[in-house]
Amino acid sequence: MAQGAPRQLRIGIMGGTFDPIHHGHLVAASEVQHAFDLDEVIFVPTATQPFKKDRRVSPAEHRYLMTVIATASNPRFTVSRVDIDRGGTTYTIDTLHDIAAKYPGAALYFITGADALAQILTWKDNEEIFELAQLVGVTRPGHVLTDMGLPEDRVSLMEVPAMSISSTDCRERVSDGGPVWYLVPDGVVQYIRKYGLYRRAGRASSTTS
Ligand code: ATP
Ligand code: MG
Repeated sequence: MAQGAPRQLRIGIMGGTFDPIHHGHLVAASEVQHAFDLDEVIFVPTATQPFKKDRRVSPAEHRYLMTVIATASNPRFTVSRVDIDRGGTTYTIDTLHDIAAKYPGAALYFITGADALAQILTWKDNEEIFELAQLVGVTRPGHVLTDMGLPEDRVSLMEVPAMSISSTDCRERVSDGGPVWYLVPDGVVQYIRKYGLYRRAGRASSTTS
């Protein structure tokens, strides 16, 4: 191997509520990891999401553990508790500061789906977000991927295999007694079942889904 200065670490960050984590998140992270030759992609489950304050969200520990289960088999995927442990409302700017402090000198790539990218100018301190990280926006069915209004040199757009999956749909399926097999990893299906997540009060669990 050639001698010389070690290569700058390249770290991907995938923030999300992950309620539950599904194959749309995992494919997006895997595609960006490969395309940008990232050393690691860190999944960061939120504490309280500013845009989801009026919605019921599962306890952070459940979301964290499902994310660990879903990512455990990929040597380049890890999960961070920075947002959960900081608590309160999660702002991406704080996530980036915390990760940057843990990986001094690393190049950070913040991964978002098209829907999240479209909102980014409404996020707290978005100008500083662009200073701390390169944004990577990925395609998501039902949403238009555009970098309009965003600083061109700080945003990359990437097409990824279309996964028409959302956590909202997964929760509704479970609540209606429907299957989430193959939408989320097997271990996550079993975790949801084990802890009775997303079940409508009074609905008995079925044996087929
Ligand atoms: P919810 O329906 O609860 O909002 P979600 O499926 O949108 O859940 P989030 O946890 O809100 O998942 O999303 C985390 C990140 O993953 C966001 O940047 C979002 O755009 C991206 N993402 C989620 N699902 C997909 C998908 N199917 N394809 C590409 N990106 C996705
Ligand atoms: Mg969402």
